[in-house]
Amino acid sequence: DHGLSEADPEVRAIINKEKERQFKSLELIASENFTSRAVMEAVGSCLTNKYSEGLPGKRYYGGNEYIDELEILCQKRALAAFHLDENKWGVNVQPLSGSPANFEVYTAILNPHDRIMGLDLPHGGHLSHGFMTPKRRVSGTSIYFESMPYRLDESTGLVDYDMLEKTATLFRPKLIICGASAYPRDFDYPRMRKIADAVGAFLMMDMAHISGLVAASVVADPFEYCDIVTTTTHKSLRGPRGGMIFFKKDPVLGVDLESAINNAVFPGLQGGPHNHTIGGLAVCLQHAQSPEFKAYQNQVVSNCRALARRLVELGYTLVSGGSDNHLVLVDLRPLGIDGARVEKILDMASITLNKNSVPGDKSALVPGGIRIGSPAMTTRGFTEKEFTAIADFIHEGVQITIEAKGLASGSKVQEFLKFVSSPDFPLTDKVSN
Ligand code: PLP
Repeated sequence: DHGLSEADPEVRAIINKEKERQFKSLELIASENFTSRAVMEAVGSCLTNKYSEGLPGKRYYGGNEYIDELEILCQKRALAAFHLDENKWGVNVQPLSGSPANFEVYTAILNPHDRIMGLDLPHGGHLSHGFMTPKRRVSGTSIYFESMPYRLDESTGLVDYDMLEKTATLFRPKLIICGASAYPRDFDYPRMRKIADAVGAFLMMDMAHISGLVAASVVADPFEYCDIVTTTTHKSLRGPRGGMIFFKKDPVLGVDLESAINNAVFPGLQGGPHNHTIGGLAVCLQHAQSPEFKAYQNQVVSNCRALARRLVELGYTLVSGGSDNHLVLVDLRPLGIDGARVEKILDMASITLNKNSVPGDKSALVPGGIRIGSPAMTTRGFTEKEFTAIADFIHEGVQITIEAKGLASGSKVQEFLKFVSSPDFPLTDKVSN
């Protein structure tokens, strides 16, 4: 049996290049992180060889005594990491990622074409919460369910709860989803709960982006108010790529969430669990209970605030004016440029971040902002000082983008041509002859 370098030098070389890219750049994508060597070891282990359809003690394959032990350990650690009482909450650790986890919840508690409400994609929501254009139902969530988005108040950059309440009263959704991919503030869970109760809807939180911050109690706790909480495991939580679904054990709106959700995961939508991922997740969830992890999450938030502070000093407009979590959303439209151009220029300078739509954008193709996240570089030991320097680097990139846009638009050359074409410049005659 050969190691990768011997068995497949071509793939080894690609991995080496990607590793170098990751370590030589400033990684500011809000949904990315660097997981630990211990997690990597579990993910790259023999656990990947095993089939184990079903749940611990109820498998469709033999040889699962250790896999059962692992999954039970992972479940226990998941509940402990989020400070949950095992009598009140359960968890399924098998979802393959965040989008499948969300679709599994919908499959569990909704009938096809039931109504749901999530934050609009261009306002920071996620595709898996539903998205359609006037021409096309884009997200599978909008193909199989009727989705009506709620939005931000464009003047404040905060969720427009009043409008959500009015729309929910008319639309009467069966499920309301909190959570976002690009929202720098906490959700008002008590308000969302009230709205859900008033219309008889389930309330779900997709905490994918902020699950590490929730585990460390540095943001508001969604478990106090929601019936179901989903998450990815590879963002601020710093685990392997995967997903989890937490559910209340007592029936909600007459539905036994435990059996409905477990059945939706398997046999509903998935087959064999990825046991190597569950192994890595168990490692991550143990670490998530340590004082070191809490200190890390506090630093993620402080770093993000330092970044926001410096950007505001430099004159930038931030959606909602700042940040309570791990990301800032910069509105570049006042500078006459867009996020796509800035993303490209910064990419050339080894600074990796996302173009992102901002409230009020006319086109989704040319989004007016950028999203900047602090989790990954905080893992690499960056503090407020380095994040202040990052703001200065980004500023430099933005200035270059503004100049490059001026040049690329041809306006500088047009000015120049006007001069060479003037009557007192003889070139004009020569050219027309
Ligand atoms: N939910 C939210 C809020 C997300 O931001 C994301 C991904 O960015 C997902 C779900 C989907 O996760 P995955 O890419 O693992 O399917």
